Amino acid sequence: MGKPDLVILHPPSVYDFRRQPKLYGPVSEVVPSTPVFEMYPFGFATLASYLHRQGYRSRIVNLGLRMINDPSFDAEGFIGRLRPRAFGIGLHWLCHAQGAIETARLAKRQHPDTPVIFGGFSSTYYHEQLMEYPEVDYVLRGDSTEVPLAKLLWHLREGSEPHDVPNLTWRDASGEVRVNPLTNVPETLEVRPIDHAFMVRTVLRDRDLSSNLPFRDWLEYPMGSGITCRGCTHNCVTCGGSEYAFRRFFGREKAAFRAPEALAEDVKNIRGFGKGFLMVVGDIRQAGMEYAQRFLDAMSVMNDPLTLELFTPATGGFLQRVGDALPNFSLEISLESHDEEVRRAFGKHYSNEAVERSIESAYSAGCKRLDIYFMIGLPKQTRQSVMDTVAYCGELLDRYGREGRLHLFVSPLAPFLDPGSMAFEEPERHGYRIFHRTLEEHRRALLNPSWKYVLNYETEWMTREDIVLSSYEASLELNRIKLRHGLMSSQEVEKAEQRTSQALRLLEVLDQVDEGDTAKLEELRPQLESTNAIVARPWNDWELGLRLGQWNLVKQGFYLVSQGVAAFMSTLRAGFAGGSKAQTGQATGVSSGSD
Ligand code: SF4
Repeated sequence: MGKPDLVILHPPSVYDFRRQPKLYGPVSEVVPSTPVFEMYPFGFATLASYLHRQGYRSRIVNLGLRMINDPSFDAEGFIGRLRPRAFGIGLHWLCHAQGAIETARLAKRQHPDTPVIFGGFSSTYYHEQLMEYPEVDYVLRGDSTEVPLAKLLWHLREGSEPHDVPNLTWRDASGEVRVNPLTNVPETLEVRPIDHAFMVRTVLRDRDLSSNLPFRDWLEYPMGSGITCRGCTHNCVTCGGSEYAFRRFFGREKAAFRAPEALAEDVKNIRGFGKGFLMVVGDIRQAGMEYAQRFLDAMSVMNDPLTLELFTPATGGFLQRVGDALPNFSLEISLESHDEEVRRAFGKHYSNEAVERSIESAYSAGCKRLDIYFMIGLPKQTRQSVMDTVAYCGELLDRYGREGRLHLFVSPLAPFLDPGSMAFEEPERHGYRIFHRTLEEHRRALLNPSWKYVLNYETEWMTREDIVLSSYEASLELNRIKLRHGLMSSQEVEKAEQRTSQALRLLEVLDQVDEGDTAKLEELRPQLESTNAIVARPWNDWELGLRLGQWNLVKQGFYLVSQGVAAFMSTLRAGFAGGSKAQTGQATGVSSGSD
């Protein structure tokens, strides 16, 4: 087997978090990742799968996860042993700014002649600044890079200059940075979501399961998702994936939707793989009620659990149609605040009354689980307002907490306000003050030992200190409410309180530590590590509620064997065919975005 065309590396948030004593914020309590943000974007898997169909060999390496799982894992040595034609590094979420650039540095140190390609939302926003780092050779911009990436790989094989690769920022032979037009912005979403069959074959081919896992506990809590669209029709002020951000920075005038029948097919295909958590990302009503109905008709009737996302409250009629098509459905909605004025300032225009009517309708339609998210760090939000939000959580649980169906989360907007969001681009207008603007400022900020100083913003109504303290206060109070409703045990609450008071103590101590006082940080390391608990992370509410789906072992075993056979047969076929599609010429790299 020849060398891979591309190894896609997913860096940890901070490299090397194992040697860098620091206090992380409590963000990972509501997402599957640990504070290292080891979960890679689903886009990696769709890219790898697309490249495979175009005849290019790629491999995903979740470097962050390998480093978490094995304290002695030598990341640089591992990279040194890889021999790809190019490295791809994901800088999608800005919280990876330090880890991504450092990983590029390691790759270049080990392989000075191997090109390094960056991609992702943050890469797009900072493409010109990224090119100032000598370790970065190419940046692929935009939300759809499958086709340009295949075309770039073709040029790398041929040794030619990529003048015609859309969305590409690159350095030519004279060292001049060139910015090719951002023209690959497909109007429909044709690329499949994660192709589980392909992923299994890749694991078997590379005999490397741990590098491919999307996050640490994925084997226990496998997740899958059907993706409705690229882009968004909403404008939440802190979101780098808003309609505003897509229009200004990703060249997308309007959201591109997956055809509803194709989306249903995606969901069913993933569901066929096992019983893990499965979600449709993006509100199915975004493209209109006709779209939503076509999706539900195509799904009807699927009895397995499926979670839908709501961007706004839903009517009883719609929820009943969901219940008819998906009798085992769950819902997620982010209300941001209980205070309608705060919610409006954030860009969401609906009342609590509408939310509560939706909860009742959802229950009547048979909703199995309802997750509601609130956020800290919003325009017009004060510390008191955050505590009032927590009190509202208590009210919601009193009214709708029966049978443990309602799950509530309150978390800080951290570590960064998204570049490209309205709040980042026009901070004064929305009441924000921005501390870090450039990529380099964000990279350096991530090295700060206290998450308070990593935050890139504060608001007119809350300082960074307020945001941090408020996050802990809210979490303590919410835990007590959950205890009263039987959603947490007293031992869990006690443990969480111990961790929180230790975190608060450490925040104060870190405020007194002089910059560069590594001896003091080393002294604090054991306390910081036990507070962060990256390796021995306690179960969070996200996981506790997720025990609705475990793998079907018999089916999984059968599936792995069948995919192993398929992988073997496809290798044989490729051998007989005497070459890949990619060897047939440049045309494959520019074939349509569809698969
Ligand atoms: S946060 Fe708001 S703007 Fe961003 S993707 Fe969700 S609905 Fe769209």
